[in-house]
Amino acid sequence: MKPFTIIWDFDGTLLPTDPYDSEHTLLLYNIHASDERLSLAKRIVGRTIIFLDRKKWMGPAFKRYYAWVLSGTRMNRLDGVSEMLAQKISGSDRASLRDIYHHGHTQMIISCGTLDLIERVLENAGIKDCFKSIEGNRFLSANDRIIGIQNRIIHPTDKLKPLKGQGLDADRVIAVGDGYTDLPLLDWARFPVLMDRSQTKSRLPEKRCYSKIASISDLPEWIEHLSSENGPAI
Ligand SMILES: [Mg+2]
Repeated sequence: MKPFTIIWDFDGTLLPTDPYDSEHTLLLYNIHASDERLSLAKRIVGRTIIFLDRKKWMGPAFKRYYAWVLSGTRMNRLDGVSEMLAQKISGSDRASLRDIYHHGHTQMIISCGTLDLIERVLENAGIKDCFKSIEGNRFLSANDRIIGIQNRIIHPTDKLKPLKGQGLDADRVIAVGDGYTDLPLLDWARFPVLMDRSQTKSRLPEKRCYSKIASISDLPEWIEHLSSENGPAI
């Protein structure tokens, strides 16, 4: 089988996000922290942006407030949150990612999320080595405290930026995503796959018909089908 490149989204795709994604979880962790508690203003803004972002009313503006609420937070706070988040990736999902890797496929992550969190979650889950590259937004820090965030991938079309100069053939790319920020990438790849854990994503505006999977564990079999003569009509 000729190997594919599989480009994953992170929140909602590799990481189950019901009810909160990784950035919301980091905010909540700090809002509830008993030591170095956030100011009242930051706790109010933090809760407000979580609410608005979950309603999909914030868009890229979320990151500005997110970075402000977290400014001054110790970087090692990310470790505890990441350990907690890693537990959301099931054993069978981890095994499937390793299986895809051992079959020689190249896996990448392109996320509008926080790179420092994603890397730590994958390390804690023991699957970081399965990915050739991980793209996202890295915190800026000084004296081991967060002072801002590098906004590299915040708009949906930004997800196409890391592909430039990589010589990737879209005909051999499987893109897996779960939301509107993934649409440009899903439309670029020859094989777009929608992660639909709750079977409720039918309202996402699809330019063409996406294949759907309900968990990471469904992908190895889906790739097998794709590679066989009797694969799904896509
Ligand atoms: Mg997502």
